[in-house]
Amino acid sequence: MLSLDSPRWKELRQAYGAAEEVPELLRAMEKEDAQRVAMTTSGGGSKSVWGDIWSSLCHQYSVYTATYVAVPHMVSVAENGSLTLRLDVLVFCGTVQAFGKLEGGPVPAELMAEYEASLTKLVEMSRGIVSDAVREGSLDQYPLTYLIQSLLAIRYGGDATICILDRLGTGDDEIEVECDECGESSYVDLQNIPEDMIDRDSMAQDLEEAMLLVGESTGESNRDFSEDIGEGSNSQADETRWSSVSIVQIAAALAATYGDKDLAGKIMLLRADVACPSCDHQFMISDGILWGI
Ligand SMILES: [Zn+2]
Repeated sequence: MLSLDSPRWKELRQAYGAAEEVPELLRAMEKEDAQRVAMTTSGGGSKSVWGDIWSSLCHQYSVYTATYVAVPHMVSVAENGSLTLRLDVLVFCGTVQAFGKLEGGPVPAELMAEYEASLTKLVEMSRGIVSDAVREGSLDQYPLTYLIQSLLAIRYGGDATICILDRLGTGDDEIEVECDECGESSYVDLQNIPEDMIDRDSMAQDLEEAMLLVGESTGESNRDFSEDIGEGSNSQADETRWSSVSIVQIAAALAATYGDKDLAGKIMLLRADVACPSCDHQFMISDGILWGI
């Protein structure tokens, strides 16, 4: 990982120009979290360096060469950081993966390789982070939809289903879809899908199967230490069978596993059918999702 003292930071870019001040932000991030750990408070509500980190490194979904070089530092500090910091890093990296548009690239290959390696590390940590947040009732920092979105984005990137997940918790249940037959776009309201477009039995079965893949992770009795560090043997073994084609089921199963059955049901509705208002062609909502940022 690029040393915080390296002159190469000057060659990297952030939102406001050269990235020579990014090492200072990362030092401040580490210091802030060390103070948070020492005070054993969440630090929620107070002014945080994270506002500056977001505006410099993920500015309205634009990301920069320094973003990718800063992430290994974030993940490294997060490994021994507070839950608050681990959540910040998870959501930051999830947002970069889901929505980030690189401006002023490319990132030098060896630095990109370090980014990828740190992301792999974060994937290993991520289930433990979300489990801890749910168990400690720390969902005020980020709602569960954001956490599930981030969990999936660091694995699969900016799939359309992943990109709309954060909206499902907000009451904004209108999803824009595009007909794969005639190309016409239309809106479908998840609250008002005709019942004959919903195959409840197969949905329930799909969710049940996905919950087996997701595995027990929180709210159950036999949690063990290995799970706390994100290396639960069951969840790892099962996760190899997760797939980007079953994103909806996996996302819903995560929601259910983390205790939000309503959200799980809403996510599963993305597997309902919709009829194109122009040509009457029927397709699955998740296959036609349009999203823009
Ligand atoms: Zn159509």
